[in-house]
Amino acid sequence: MTIKSDYYEILGVERNASDEEIKRSYRKLAMQYHPDRNPGNREAEEMFKEASEAYEVLSDQGKRDIYNRYGHDGLTGAGYRGFSGFDDIFSSFGDVFGDIFGFSTGRSRSRTAAQAGADLRYDLRISFMDAALGATTEISLQKYVLCTSCRGSGCAAGISPEVCSRCQGRGQVTQSSGFFSISTTCPQCRGQGQVIKTPCRECSGGGKIKVAKTVQLKIPAGVETGSRLRMRGEGEEGEYGGPSGDLYVFIEVKRHDVFEREGNDIYCRIPITFIQAALGGSVEAPTLTGREKVKIPRGTQTGRTFRLKGKGIPHLRGYGCGDQVIETVVTVPTNLSRRQEELLKEFEKLSG
Ligand SMILES: [Zn+2]
Ligand SMILES: [Zn+2]
Repeated sequence: MTIKSDYYEILGVERNASDEEIKRSYRKLAMQYHPDRNPGNREAEEMFKEASEAYEVLSDQGKRDIYNRYGHDGLTGAGYRGFSGFDDIFSSFGDVFGDIFGFSTGRSRSRTAAQAGADLRYDLRISFMDAALGATTEISLQKYVLCTSCRGSGCAAGISPEVCSRCQGRGQVTQSSGFFSISTTCPQCRGQGQVIKTPCRECSGGGKIKVAKTVQLKIPAGVETGSRLRMRGEGEEGEYGGPSGDLYVFIEVKRHDVFEREGNDIYCRIPITFIQAALGGSVEAPTLTGREKVKIPRGTQTGRTFRLKGKGIPHLRGYGCGDQVIETVVTVPTNLSRRQEELLKEFEKLSG
């Protein structure tokens, strides 16, 4: 927390200043510290924000009364939070800037400011096994990158952008109108401050071209449908030195013929013969990594489950794995031979 300055001091007015004096003083400061006139100047930015906050409070009789009586704390107590940023200021005081700068939003976004590249989304379908065990794969995507033949300048070879003759590179043209000077976006360079006489043929002067790119993607074991993998800096390239965006890979996992997943546990059914069910025995069950012997006790019914600890899917964040749950299905033999049938009939007699 920094200690807040006095709003009257910031605007340089007396405590009993009239609304008109407050507005006049604010306009003067806003003109001086306007971000379009001080690009990249942090100090000016701060001054501009401070003055705007002071003006917002002192131009509102209700807020001004609270401030006069209780100071900054009073405003905080009354729920006043100030501005979150420039856009907030401009949308609040559009009218004030309207007559100072000659356009309603009060600001033209400089087109040569550093801009982060866009994030990209890629939808990837993977097999159940790749999700369970992890995998490395390559994905191909189309994205815009800086044009290689002009390195993003947009100019044909041997040509450089020329400083705009109309605005001398400022991107704004200023006209004096009585007491105020009015700035507007330069119509010749559309605010860029420079013009390209012969554009690069590769990118038509845009400075970017679309290319196919292959990205190596490591899929961690344990992902599931809906998992989102973020690849930092693999999105589109930023402009004017801005950082690249990120690539988000959205995972969709295909179904498996044998295994079903619930959380990090996997489920499968294994058939056992009615002899194995009655007498007990052992069967081989498929697991994620191979096969595993499972002991079947005597008198096992359909639907009995056996849990193989730690044979499930690895926890994506953290240690260990889920379990594998095996459910028995007792099968009834068909196409009995004559001899088998005799034995079964005998068995039936013995069972009463
Ligand atoms: Zn180019
Ligand atoms: Zn210009």
